[in-house]
Amino acid sequence: MTMATKGELEWERRQCHAMALEALAAEREGAYHQAIDVALRSLPHIDGATQFERKFMKMENPPLPTLGIVFRYAPPLFRQDALDRVDVFLAERRGVEKRSGQDLKAQLAEARQLLDTAYRLWQQVRGGTPILESREPLKSDRVYAIEQVWERSGLIERIPPGSPKKWAFRTQFNAPVRAKCNRCGHPRTAPKVAFLEESRCPKCGGMAAFVILGPASKVTP
Ligand SMILES: [Zn+2]
Repeated sequence: MTMATKGELEWERRQCHAMALEALAAEREGAYHQAIDVALRSLPHIDGATQFERKFMKMENPPLPTLGIVFRYAPPLFRQDALDRVDVFLAERRGVEKRSGQDLKAQLAEARQLLDTAYRLWQQVRGGTPILESREPLKSDRVYAIEQVWERSGLIERIPPGSPKKWAFRTQFNAPVRAKCNRCGHPRTAPKVAFLEESRCPKCGGMAAFVILGPASKVTP
């Protein structure tokens, strides 16, 4: 195997950095599927990027912001595909974990557990209204993180609104919401339940994760 040149590694680092910024911007907008997808696109560049950071920027443990995004948002969004991609990536690029100084395999295992927890919570959410109600004053941080993502994505609502203590949530599966295709931006309005899983976009024809923008007054075709 030939060694990559400094210029090549620097290019990988620029790619990785640009994608990290893009993923973090999507995260701030609450476009979590998009944040995950951008983060996954960064995987082929991380090895070179961290080599550059270690060697030429003298960073002892280069940070891995895009992997962090996958670990945070794949579980609440049931993106097992994303965790599987990271699994393969870590097995193929062992140097990344070594350079990071982190136990990435443990973080991946934790994310998989969290995905299981999210599935169990979701079963409760689908079971009735009000749906999630904990008698415990404090839930684990893990469950709280899942609920936060669901709430910010508009999948569940806190009742009463803004209540700091009562962790009661409800879904409004049949309420109309506005959403846009994450591939072509095509806007659609439909009951929320239509957007919970990927569906075929009528405009671009691709399988799309529709990003929920907010409530709508009525459903349009
Ligand atoms: Zn589309």
